[in-house]
Amino acid sequence: MFSYRHAFHAGNHADVLKHATLVAVLQHLTLKEGALSVVDTHAGAGLYKLDSNSATTSAEAEFGIKALLAHISKHGKASAPALLSAYVGMLRQFNGGKDIKMYPGSPIIAAELLRTQDRVMAFEVHPTDHRLLRTTLEQATSRAKLLMDRKDGFEGIRSLLPPVSRRGLVVCDPSYELKTDYAEVLNMTVEALRRFATGSMLIWYPLVGRPEAHDLPRKLKNAVAKAGKSWLHATLQVRAGAAGQGTGGGLGASGVFVVNPPHTLKAQMQEALPYLVEALGQDTHAAFKLESHGN
Ligand code: SAM
Repeated sequence: MFSYRHAFHAGNHADVLKHATLVAVLQHLTLKEGALSVVDTHAGAGLYKLDSNSATTSAEAEFGIKALLAHISKHGKASAPALLSAYVGMLRQFNGGKDIKMYPGSPIIAAELLRTQDRVMAFEVHPTDHRLLRTTLEQATSRAKLLMDRKDGFEGIRSLLPPVSRRGLVVCDPSYELKTDYAEVLNMTVEALRRFATGSMLIWYPLVGRPEAHDLPRKLKNAVAKAGKSWLHATLQVRAGAAGQGTGGGLGASGVFVVNPPHTLKAQMQEALPYLVEALGQDTHAAFKLESHGN
């Protein structure tokens, strides 16, 4: 049985990096009229209360979204790069223009930004989070069609590619509780590129002291380049030290890897990442990395 619950981590620095990137990718993909299909292989519960016991116990959002909001408020809205303004704007709108108390996870961010012609297919295996996700999706006011399944996302995606619409985004955000998740992510990417070479993918991974974590981006770069496709890779480190150390608790660094990224994404990230280092950095080890190929 898996023990990971995203409620303890919602709105942390890793979510900020992942979800700000997701918003930018979705905003670009929805510029074209054609229907878009989003597959979220590891969806989580969908919606998180930032004042819940889980969130306040871990206090990870304090060093993530709350630190970003405080930084923007201190330096003025005009100081925030476009990619981060769009992300924060989406969160504010989701909270009815008021304080950000409810934090939407990846399937709900997609549900918010998609249109009538679009659809989201979300996979979540944890029994409690699956139940919560079902309720959240049922109550969502999205214009898009929202579907879910309590199935292994690595397995479930197989029958969904290529989407009928031939326009799609795969969001792959495992908890990496199993060491095998790293190999599964790579295999899924290779298979997805084989079935749907023009689709975009957003993969998140933790930068922890496991060789698999450091090998994953290298292997992804090779696989995507071999398929003749473009990629973008960004990492955000907020402090030195391994997971569980330091004032911010939890993870110290993570990365996003985007396959077939929008051509606008690199410039947006180039502007946003130094701002995130300033806003979320906890010590002098705070840093970012941005690299891309074929875009
Ligand atoms: N993507 C979510 C977001 O950004 O809001 C957070 C997802 S969380 C990092 C990872 C989730 O994957 C957990 O809720 C876990 O229960 C679920 N999970 C783990 N293995 C899975 C699998 N093989 N298929 C589908 N879900 C899985």
